[in-house]
Amino acid sequence: MSDPSELLELIDKRAESNEISLDHLIVQRLSREPLLACVTAASAVFLREVISAVLNDNKQAALDEIFRLSEDEIPEEHAESYLLLAQNLCAACEYADGWVMFKKNYILYLLDKERVDEALVVISDLEEVLPDDDELKLLLEQAGVSEPINVAVVGLNQYSEELQRRIVRAPEKYRYKLVCFCDEKEEYVGQYLNGTMILDIKQLAKLYRRGEVDKVIVAFSGFSTSKTSNTFRRLERAGITDRVFTVPPWYLDGAYDYVQYSIQQFEPEKELSLDSALIRADMSRAVLGFIMPLSNMHCNYSCKSCVTASPLAEPGFMSLASYRRDIERLKELYWHICRFRISGGETLLHPDIAEMVKITRDAFPSTGLALQTNGLLLLKNDGRFDGLFNVMRENRCGFQISTYKPVFYGAMSLTRF
Ligand code: SF4
Repeated sequence: MSDPSELLELIDKRAESNEISLDHLIVQRLSREPLLACVTAASAVFLREVISAVLNDNKQAALDEIFRLSEDEIPEEHAESYLLLAQNLCAACEYADGWVMFKKNYILYLLDKERVDEALVVISDLEEVLPDDDELKLLLEQAGVSEPINVAVVGLNQYSEELQRRIVRAPEKYRYKLVCFCDEKEEYVGQYLNGTMILDIKQLAKLYRRGEVDKVIVAFSGFSTSKTSNTFRRLERAGITDRVFTVPPWYLDGAYDYVQYSIQQFEPEKELSLDSALIRADMSRAVLGFIMPLSNMHCNYSCKSCVTASPLAEPGFMSLASYRRDIERLKELYWHICRFRISGGETLLHPDIAEMVKITRDAFPSTGLALQTNGLLLLKNDGRFDGLFNVMRENRCGFQISTYKPVFYGAMSLTRF
């Protein structure tokens, strides 16, 4: 345990002057102690004596102080830090009954704040140690969890497995039940994948007709349009035309955490649940895996093997009117485009590139949208792209950076955006 005086001095200073500028230092210092990392700077003042005991390596005294504080009402603004710290201390002191009590109180707190998904995750943790606990069942009812929706996942690939992982994890495990996978390859049919049976389309159609499958979700990467279209066509031929869905690529790949973070910057109350991610298929139109429209042909770099021959291209930009017209036509043809990459030439040379991002997002709310760039102009970081960055954040658009030399060497510095 490191010297506790520095943190306690900071907390005392914060208590005397209410100086919010100290918060960063306090949080930094709290995060170094695993038991205290859950405490906010503002609550550190309220929990000073508990923190002091923890810093002096006296966990039992810290837990006694937690119970002493509970004799009075815990102020609303400190309740979360208090309940989390209480759980940590009960675990550290191996006081199981206290740990369960504070966990349940924390679930009630989250439900009261309408943070249902978080509450369901804590309920799931607790269910593992108390599988038949009646109070937990009541808390689940309070969370509004009713009968789960039965789903079938079509296509056996890394995306369907990821979907399965999300469905069996809280909070989704209370809302969805994975009934089966479906794949056409004979060698798979009748087998199990991570405990879930694999059916062929005819068998799936039977379950669907009998109402034993509520939603059919097609998991695909978007890199093979023909494979994807064939899957939807086969479903249609088998009479599975309604209640067919897919999910955007970011829901099933490494971008999930980033998208969750960026969406919550703008819409903190928005939940990134499977429900909100599902895209309903429109069988009367096609689905497109991947498209890469070119905003302009010329570039500020000249790679020897440029696939668009940009080093030879005359400067010139696609007009917004043309872009809008093309996007409208795409919308008529396709109910969903899995991945949409606006490319060039160098896209950042286009004066209306931000508007192109907005137009695309308006037309395809669920597409995986990215702007291709060689990144050279970003390295200057002179503020000229601040407006574009905001538009990209608001419209969930990422950069796809082709890290050619010399961008490759500056790639690390680009992460600050
Ligand atoms: S950066 Fe890209 S578009 Fe520009 S010349 Fe190189 S390959 Fe072509």
